[in-house]
Amino acid sequence: MNTITLDQALETFHKDQVDFKSAVHEIYEDIVESGMLSDKDIDRYFMRLIEPNRSLRFKVEWYDDNNKLHVNRGYRIQFNNALGPYKGGLRFHKDVSEDTFKFLGFEQIFKNALTGLPMGGAKGGADFDPKGKSDFEIMRFCQAFMSELYKHIGPNIDIPAGDIGVGTREIGYLYGHYLKLTDQYTGVLTGKGYNFGGSCVREEATGYGATYLLEEALNEHQRKIDELDVLVSGAGNVALHAAEKLIDLGAKVLTLSDSGGTLHFPKGLTADQLKRIKKHKLVEHKSLKDIKDLESEFYEDKKPWGLKADCAFPCATQNEIDNEEIKELIKNGVWCFVEGANMPLSSKALDFLDGGQLYLPGKAANAGGVAVSGFERTQNSIHHRFSAGEINERLKVVMKEIHQNCKDNTKVEGEFLNYKKGANLYSFKKIYNTTLSLGI
Ligand code: NDP
Repeated sequence: MNTITLDQALETFHKDQVDFKSAVHEIYEDIVESGMLSDKDIDRYFMRLIEPNRSLRFKVEWYDDNNKLHVNRGYRIQFNNALGPYKGGLRFHKDVSEDTFKFLGFEQIFKNALTGLPMGGAKGGADFDPKGKSDFEIMRFCQAFMSELYKHIGPNIDIPAGDIGVGTREIGYLYGHYLKLTDQYTGVLTGKGYNFGGSCVREEATGYGATYLLEEALNEHQRKIDELDVLVSGAGNVALHAAEKLIDLGAKVLTLSDSGGTLHFPKGLTADQLKRIKKHKLVEHKSLKDIKDLESEFYEDKKPWGLKADCAFPCATQNEIDNEEIKELIKNGVWCFVEGANMPLSSKALDFLDGGQLYLPGKAANAGGVAVSGFERTQNSIHHRFSAGEINERLKVVMKEIHQNCKDNTKVEGEFLNYKKGANLYSFKKIYNTTLSLGI
């Protein structure tokens, strides 16, 4: 019998993996507090849950445009497939490690459970920095990466998608190489281009979905989205589509940001300005600091969190709001936090939430992306395509159900429902019960 505690197991087998341990604790504490299982049963179950089913690390060798050889590390953490085939994005970013993918893969198990769709949790990617690379270099890297990954994925095994640094262009190159290696035209990746099996609304889904959940939560608490001043961080897939839907629903978007700094729109970002920024960031892959004539101010190397607003909508990366930043935000009147990104509020920042803030955790707020990925998989397997209108309506239904499932598993604490507890309890129960049904 296993006699070590969960903390000992984390320290022994997952040492130095700070983000992963923080993601585990964030769920563990809610389950303990709920009293749904004895402490002994919780520890025994978490011992199983924290070990990925399979953890792959592989070499990726590629040549740059000057014929110089580079070696990167590729990862795929196939964490848990109790609810369905492994599903989760690929991230290309210079700072990733096994810790990053384990924390993201662990979160993904619970997020996917929340969508109600049959998907297990996984995550992967590489410590490859796409910044400043030519189109050919990106293509060669994607091909080298897929040369190994293809052995481990399949439409009923593991279906990767995009994440930071992996957008429609990269998914195209990855899928093109998969086709070359296997000759199989299947839904093995999601986020594909429209002409080769991609779903309508996949690009928009994460940002739109997060905004739909915000709208639901505001309705629940008799507040209105068109009265909000919002600080959005990031200028990638999630941020730009969140901003688009926020503007559409009447909110005032005050900022966007990227790794170079923050672009501030004191009068609110307009739909026309956003269109220009989308081209600049998503098509031309340039920096926000190079965009001119937008009635905006650029603050180099600054995050948006020093400005006054009602709502912070972080959509860039993990731990982008830490304890000092959350104190500043709350002091400046921010009472609403929506996590478009995964774990953008650090565990220390979360400690400052005291019931006076509406907080929508990433596993619920950004689940719209993986839900539409699930719809893409369905469309591929039945060789059919749903219209943009149909997918958008299905996305709204999923976000409504996520809201309801959170609500049914939590209560008002302070002024607002505790959505973090609701999301954790709903998804944990589902995974726990399924695991028991499946036996060992
Ligand atoms: P993108 O690569 O499209 O955009 C990321 C944006 O964040 C870019 O503007 C980037 O700046 C900025 N950024 C990244 N790292 C940092 C950093 N360390 N400091 C400051 N800015 C940074 O990624 P996505 O929009 O796809 O993903 C954003 C977040 O949302 C991630 O946490 C991801 O895991 C999560 N997510 C994404 C989903 C999706 O469908 N894409 C689904 C669910 C969650 P720059 O342009 O300068 O690189």
